[in-house]
Amino acid sequence: MTERRPSSQGDATPLPPLNAEDLAERKMRFLFALRSKGVIEAKVLEAMERVDRGLFVKGLFAERAYEDMPLPIGCGQTISQPSVVGLMTQALELGPRDTVLEIGTGSGYQAAILSQIARRVYTIDRHRRLVRDADALFRALNLTNIVTLAGDGSHGLPDQAPFDRIIVTAAAEDPPGPLLAQLKIGGIMVVPVGQSDTVQSLIRVRKTQSGLDYEELRPVRFVPLVEGTATE
Ligand code: SAH
Repeated sequence: MTERRPSSQGDATPLPPLNAEDLAERKMRFLFALRSKGVIEAKVLEAMERVDRGLFVKGLFAERAYEDMPLPIGCGQTISQPSVVGLMTQALELGPRDTVLEIGTGSGYQAAILSQIARRVYTIDRHRRLVRDADALFRALNLTNIVTLAGDGSHGLPDQAPFDRIIVTAAAEDPPGPLLAQLKIGGIMVVPVGQSDTVQSLIRVRKTQSGLDYEELRPVRFVPLVEGTATE
């Protein structure tokens, strides 16, 4: 079995195809790295085994898709580190009946992972180009339970609210109020929060009958949540 890796350039020197043994070993190393960083839930690992991160990274960086690092995806944005995708998915305590709202589609990789576990995923990005590319990939992969939208996600998606789960994959100064308002009672929101580019914490918010419970999970580093729609 051989594999072709996608290239947005189309003119770059073609990578030699990997044989089945190399592929299996690469997958094993990828999953091992995830486990060693604390991604231990079977359904999350299974989802990450099924969805090929290589498809969500284009051009020069595709070769590094199976390493545990964030990578550039265009529009000055990044695809998150796989272990962070796994840990955020785990922190959501996602079930098969849940409807999830994701702010920050980026490459679409996180949404694709969520789509393997949840009932439906709505994902929004302020860059139309990223949304278009991610949407094409979801169609190609037959991920029919993902709905993509271009726009400013900091206001959420009032038409479809409330949501069982909300995941924000860009850093906000505070958990955005409109998003908290669109979370169901019993719902969970995971959001990186920080005043600067360098110091951010991943926060889990649980909405209960009596209010909001905040829990600090780990230090993270995300691109900022920016208000308004981008020009491309
Ligand atoms: N989840 C992505 C990585 C996201 S990078 C993945 O799996 O690849 C963060 C993304 O958040 C960027 O694509 C950026 O354009 C988007 N973003 C930032 N501010 C936003 C806003 N207000 N509304 C929607 N998307 C936003």
